[in-house]
Amino acid sequence: MSASLVMGNWKLNGSLESIDQFAEQWRTKAPSTSAEVVICAPTPYLLHLHKQLPELGLGAQDCSEHETGAFTGEVSAQMLFEVGCRWVIVGHSERRLYHGETDSVVAAKASAAQRAGLQVVVCCGETLAQREAGAQFAVVEAQLKASLASVAVSNLVVAYEPVWAIGTGVVATPLQAEEMHLAIREWLGELYGTDGRSVPLLYGGSVKAESAGELFACDNIDGALVGGASLEAESLAGIVAAA
Ligand code: PEP
Repeated sequence: MSASLVMGNWKLNGSLESIDQFAEQWRTKAPSTSAEVVICAPTPYLLHLHKQLPELGLGAQDCSEHETGAFTGEVSAQMLFEVGCRWVIVGHSERRLYHGETDSVVAAKASAAQRAGLQVVVCCGETLAQREAGAQFAVVEAQLKASLASVAVSNLVVAYEPVWAIGTGVVATPLQAEEMHLAIREWLGELYGTDGRSVPLLYGGSVKAESAGELFACDNIDGALVGGASLEAESLAGIVAAA
């Protein structure tokens, strides 16, 4: 198997200057690939990144569950679509942890994104304590099913991101990732039937060029959501090359 989608999540990083440098390097280092490459940049930089690298897919890291109105600080999915985004991440563990996002808020955001025509990447994953207690499958099943309540199967991607692997340098083994992806594929089949089994599944958590090949070789891993290693064009290119 090979990966079809590599998404970079820049989180709260970057500047106009660093985007220009990234773009310059990407133009020389980008591997030729059939995989789709998407960058989820901080909101103020979306237009600039799109202008610099129109060949890359453009994504946001979050969106509002609301379409319009008195919601200070919020950015709607329609606004993101209007500036060129075709993707949005929702339910990242950092949003769940630091911004109190519940599964039902994640589901509402995912539905809002789909209504605006965006492809939505819904994140799920267990903590280290939950894995150590042997509860990872029960936790991810409950989290995923609740986060997908009334979310459509079209324009849906699921990212499995074990919290213990995000930004820690500890990547899940291909076996750990693959067995969870297989379970997710089955739960999506229960929720959506045959279409659910075709939802692309991304693995995220400390993916680097060195670990990407083994992960992408797994039957149920369709790509990666990449944080730290997506900030440098060269390291992202290494991951994309493995796809
Ligand atoms: C992420 O934040 O989605 C992520 C996977 O981060 P990192 O690759 O840095 O672990």
